[in-house]
Amino acid sequence: EQTNEELSERSVLLEERNNEIQKKSEALELTTRYKSEFLANMSHELRTPLNSILLLSRLLSENNNKSMVAEEIEFAKVIQSSGNSLLGLIDEILDLSKIEAGKMEMEFLDVSTKEITDNLWNLFHLLAKEKGITFEIISKDAPVVIKTDKMRLEQILKNLISNAIKFTEKGTVTLEIKINTDDDKIICFIVKDTGIGIPLDKQPLVFEAFQQADGSTKRKYGGTGLGLSISRELAKLLRGEIILHSKLNEGSTFTLCLPVFGSALNKINLEKIPP
Ligand code: ADP
Repeated sequence: EQTNEELSERSVLLEERNNEIQKKSEALELTTRYKSEFLANMSHELRTPLNSILLLSRLLSENNNKSMVAEEIEFAKVIQSSGNSLLGLIDEILDLSKIEAGKMEMEFLDVSTKEITDNLWNLFHLLAKEKGITFEIISKDAPVVIKTDKMRLEQILKNLISNAIKFTEKGTVTLEIKINTDDDKIICFIVKDTGIGIPLDKQPLVFEAFQQADGSTKRKYGGTGLGLSISRELAKLLRGEIILHSKLNEGSTFTLCLPVFGSALNKINLEKIPP
């Protein structure tokens, strides 16, 4: 049996340990905050000079005073496109740090699915065509109005579709929209490709930051490995999820499902979605 003395000794020890844990978690919180503040400041500081680089290289590549030869214009275009990649990377890092710090806020507003599919069609149909693959948008239901953060939803879909086009050499990339109006009122955006596919053992990995199915230094496709991890986190913040089905050498399907929100599904009748 323990004496009172022993018991009070133990309670002192326990209290000390709790204090230690408390201190550690406070320190961790502080470090996380410093890290995200640092990243936010850095992104801002990097963006300012980068914007000058982008603006001036664009002016150079337009060559309005006809002072440059073809090769120089080509160089200016390379500076511009490298600058754009860098800007994309900075935005991704900033997004990820915002998400980690719990500071990514969603703005839920009414959005028509027609607006979204129009934007995506405009963004991607030429890109796919240039690569010799087909891009199509399928929606059996009439467009609907959903309550979501338009910018973030489009960010996820842009990421899924640009990946699908990037990792497909021939065939078709499809965005299909399915709406379940029965009980849960769920809308799913299904991005399907006939590309290289992802082996089963790599499938959980691709949603981790900086992870790529082909992690070798000699890999064929560029990228940062940030897009899908950001997309998955954004999907969660939109109260939905992304599910992956893929088969090596056959293709991949990424399905983003979101709650529709709003009382009744607000059917609107706009022209047909582009083929
Ligand atoms: P990134 O495309 O910049 O590498 P992502 O986070 O968007 O980063 O994707 C992570 C990895 O998942 C990719 O590098 C690729 O290996 C794999 N992946 C993503 N989408 C596809 C797809 N549609 N087909 C095949 N592999 C894919």
